[in-house]
Amino acid sequence: MLTPHPETWIYPTERGLFCEPGQFFIDPHAAVDRAIITHGHGDHARSGHGHVLASAETIAIMKQRYGGEEAAGAFQAYAEPMTVNGVGVSLKPAGHILGSCQIVLDWQGARVVISGDYKRSPDPTCRPFELVPCDLFVTEATFGLPVFRHEPAEKEAKRLIASLADNADRTHLLGVYGLGKCQRMIVLAREAGYDRPIYLHGALIGLCALYEKLGIALGDIRPVADAEPGALIGALVMCPPASLNDRWSRRMADPVTCFASGWMRVRGRARQRGVELPLVVSDHCDWPELLTTIEETGAGEIWVTHGREDALVHQIGKMGRRGRALALVGFEDEGD
Ligand SMILES: [Zn+2]
Ligand SMILES: [Zn+2]
Repeated sequence: MLTPHPETWIYPTERGLFCEPGQFFIDPHAAVDRAIITHGHGDHARSGHGHVLASAETIAIMKQRYGGEEAAGAFQAYAEPMTVNGVGVSLKPAGHILGSCQIVLDWQGARVVISGDYKRSPDPTCRPFELVPCDLFVTEATFGLPVFRHEPAEKEAKRLIASLADNADRTHLLGVYGLGKCQRMIVLAREAGYDRPIYLHGALIGLCALYEKLGIALGDIRPVADAEPGALIGALVMCPPASLNDRWSRRMADPVTCFASGWMRVRGRARQRGVELPLVVSDHCDWPELLTTIEETGAGEIWVTHGREDALVHQIGKMGRRGRALALVGFEDEGD
């Protein structure tokens, strides 16, 4: 039997990437009957689907964010390779945030891997990316420009700890995305030997509690709201990026403003936010990681989603593969 080209059975629609023989969508951005979800970030995991297949951690995150069991008609936690309407389906770690998975589809002799968001660098809060050889690889391109090179996260954490030691009279106010980056920065600080309390903006507390419940120890974390007067002087305080410069942050006198993101590679972005200590820590691949991964999958065809698609598609052509920009709507980087 001839192997049909994957684009005859998996293709973008206005609700997202659709697997026709399987009759399911991957990370759809509108409510559908049947969805497979790569991870819990808001641009991938939405509420209102009839049936959701995802990792147990992703399901726990979705329930926490979208009102418990109401978040979908039915949830199915992935346990082992399975068949959905004749399509082989398995989930493999993507190394992006807790519970993040690549979706591996096998149908009539062809293998398609949808990576979701992913990274190759180590992250103590999730399982590492597992390379799966395939015919068609769907990659993200959040940092799909040669200028993007992330620093080793451990090195950035050490810079943060050193700055805390050097500025014992100033609060360090660290902007972090609430799902993934926050917990990764806490664990990195702990691994770098920082064992003092870490204070959290109220918006970060729920997901930190969930991470702890799912087995990621975060040490002594406390709500900022409960801090004694004076306790924040010289302390590490974490908040969502939007709170770095708003009314909430004014309770900290003369803080060292820090921000952990892949975007901190761009000096203008750090300046714009008034960031004194930019930390280049990302939960996405940088440019070299993207190219290495594409190479290693052996895929002859690469589809590129959210981010700088054109530059990467051009590069893929130079690598002797077929690249295609999948202009899927609805993807915005919730955590970067
Ligand atoms: Zn993500
Ligand atoms: Zn994303």
